[in-house]
Amino acid sequence: MAPRALLAGNWKMHGLQSAVGELQKIIAGADGLPKLDLMVCPPATLIAAFAKAARGSRVLIGGQDCHSLPAGAYTGDISAEMLKDAGAAAVIVGHSERRQYHGETDEMVRTKARAAHRAGLLPIICVGETRAERQAGSALMIVRAQLDRSVPDDLTEVVIAYEPVWAIGTGLTPTPSDVAEMHATMREWLGRREAVRLLYGGSVNPANANELLTVANVDGALVGGASLKAEEFLAIAAVYR
Ligand code: PEP
Repeated sequence: MAPRALLAGNWKMHGLQSAVGELQKIIAGADGLPKLDLMVCPPATLIAAFAKAARGSRVLIGGQDCHSLPAGAYTGDISAEMLKDAGAAAVIVGHSERRQYHGETDEMVRTKARAAHRAGLLPIICVGETRAERQAGSALMIVRAQLDRSVPDDLTEVVIAYEPVWAIGTGLTPTPSDVAEMHATMREWLGRREAVRLLYGGSVNPANANELLTVANVDGALVGGASLKAEEFLAIAAVYR
């Protein structure tokens, strides 16, 4: 049986306190979508307010990154325990923007995923090839290597998001057959961990959601830009109605 679908919105560095109105629209729309889990990952400054607004609803709140240690002298960082304490249920780790702009390696991503698990958060681990790697024909090999190094092998409660770096925020997407090939490879890599959800991420919008999210072994999506407006996010979610 296919795992239950998850649609997670990554708000990145967008949103002030007034954005709670957008979350409330998503919460209202979630009632008509019983077949999938919905999640919003706002900036850290909004997690507590969003968690409070979403309490008792079908919308989960997640963080976008965490430190690997529970506490310490790490100015500006936030631990998984702090996210949990603020009301988060999950945290994205290893997003390509963290890897690119903050020098995060696969090994760091793995320790962050372990930290999330330690704190009782669901880690959403991101992997994906660059444009040059796709053009060189090495996408499958690159992603397999990222999985080997970024995903702790004893973790079963984890979500993996395949996000081709060249598709993030560009309007470009892989073909459904490329997504199918990658997700079949990831599913095979997981072996007995059948309940692990495999998300696709990269320029998902209401117009392409049906084509991308109905591909075999795609158990939902991680959505950036199109998750900022409730109407767009819910239009993507309607694939699972
Ligand atoms: C992302 O940042 O995880 C993402 C998928 O962004 P976008 O949907 O904007 O491409």
